[in-house]
Amino acid sequence: MSVISDKAQLQQSTAIAQYDVVVVGAGPYGLTAAAHLLGRGLKVAVFGKTLELWREHMPKGMFLRSHWWATNLSDPKKQYSFEKFFRVSQSKPCYPVPMETFIDYALWFQKNAVPNVDETYVASVERKGSKFLVTLVDGRKLEALAVVMAVGLYYYANMPPEYTHLSADVMTHSFEHKDFSRFKGKNLLVIGGGQSAVEYTALLLESGASVHLVSRRPVNWLAPDHSEERSLLEQIKSPNSGIAPGWKNWVLEYLPYLFHYLPQSRKDHYIRNHYNAAASDWLRDRVIGKAVLHEGVNIKTLKEIDGSVEVTLEDGTTFLVDHVMLSTGYEVRLGRLDMIHPSLRAEVHTEINIPQLSSVFESSVPGLYFIGLTSLRSFGPLYRFVVGAKAAGERVAAAAARRVARVRA
Ligand SMILES: Cc1cc2nc3c(=O)[nH]c(=O)nc-3n(C[C@H](O)[C@H](O)[C@H](O)COP(=O)(O)OP(=O)(O)OC[C@H]3O[C@@H](n4cnc5c(N)ncnc54)[C@H](O)[C@@H]3O)c2cc1C
Repeated sequence: MSVISDKAQLQQSTAIAQYDVVVVGAGPYGLTAAAHLLGRGLKVAVFGKTLELWREHMPKGMFLRSHWWATNLSDPKKQYSFEKFFRVSQSKPCYPVPMETFIDYALWFQKNAVPNVDETYVASVERKGSKFLVTLVDGRKLEALAVVMAVGLYYYANMPPEYTHLSADVMTHSFEHKDFSRFKGKNLLVIGGGQSAVEYTALLLESGASVHLVSRRPVNWLAPDHSEERSLLEQIKSPNSGIAPGWKNWVLEYLPYLFHYLPQSRKDHYIRNHYNAAASDWLRDRVIGKAVLHEGVNIKTLKEIDGSVEVTLEDGTTFLVDHVMLSTGYEVRLGRLDMIHPSLRAEVHTEINIPQLSSVFESSVPGLYFIGLTSLRSFGPLYRFVVGAKAAGERVAAAAARRVARVRA
């Protein structure tokens, strides 16, 4: 196993440090990919803040929608599963899982499976012949034969253009928050109808805010989740899977590369129609009768007036709020990954600004891989969730190892 172990040495060295693979990102996908790359004996550097999205961009008190058994990170010897973490930390599996428990698990995984993650951000990745030159924000440089981009979600935060005329003082995206205490006593508008919109509404109410939730469609409440107590017959009819029960989800999880081979038009149709926003049943009591729910209605106008926002809905309802929170999801756009040098970005074949990926998560630039949400359009909905990290990590590690062997040869 070989990782960056001595930052200072790297800084002082005049020669550019050489690696087999650089992993950009230390979230569930980056850590899993790194664990599998290390398991193959490669020289790997991993950059990024460990679990940054979960630690810095999600609110205190949040619970996961997915089960603990669907939020495993993966290592080649299967030593660091969530189940093992429960055993060593003497804590008990539960549902729903508090976000803090998942973070503790993932930090334990990182400490054991991918020690010495370097928390420095990557400033630039560019191509130098068959290698990549990676420059860090502190000026250090290194070269690698392959780069795995696992930069996650927040570059892709979707800000619908019809709302962007509002100033940042009165409108934010949900990913900008980890603490709602500043909203105590305030009136808020939350826009969206999925798990985050509804859960953030609950957490805002519990922080002392008043909340209007506006959702284009009626909130799609999921059925109560009894995954842990389902009968054999129920499981045969609709097997448990990490995304949600059902045969289609089971196929996505257990044949995780199959989706890739469908024609793109079918993949787009599937992603559009099978994964509508939905909210967990356990949020009902925390929201219904407590927030003002405007379901199945569009916003007509949002007007900023003296530090407040006047909201007019298409059904004629008007009200005033102090703050608007967009819970409008994430939209992959390669152009937003400013750490990829423009010359390299220009080489990556895209469609609607989304990288086209081979069956091993490789872009049109040999040795440049994208995993996690960026791969959603190619590989399907599994990769929207932590449960997809194992399949992505295993495959990308095998592909990168083959590339390293080929280039060395
Ligand atoms: C509110 C919310 C709730 C969710 N709940 C669930 C759930 O219950 N279950 C589930 O399975 N999924 C859930 N998800 C989705 C889940 O967050 C993702 O599946 C998962 O975190 C993606 O992991 P990742 O490693 O791809 O990216 P991220 O977790 O986003 O990590 C990105 C990494 O990239 C690093 N990085 C960024 N820029 C740079 C740079 N320039 N240089 C170096 N490093 C960089 C960051 O520091 C970080 O380490 C939720 C998402 C949100 C927003």
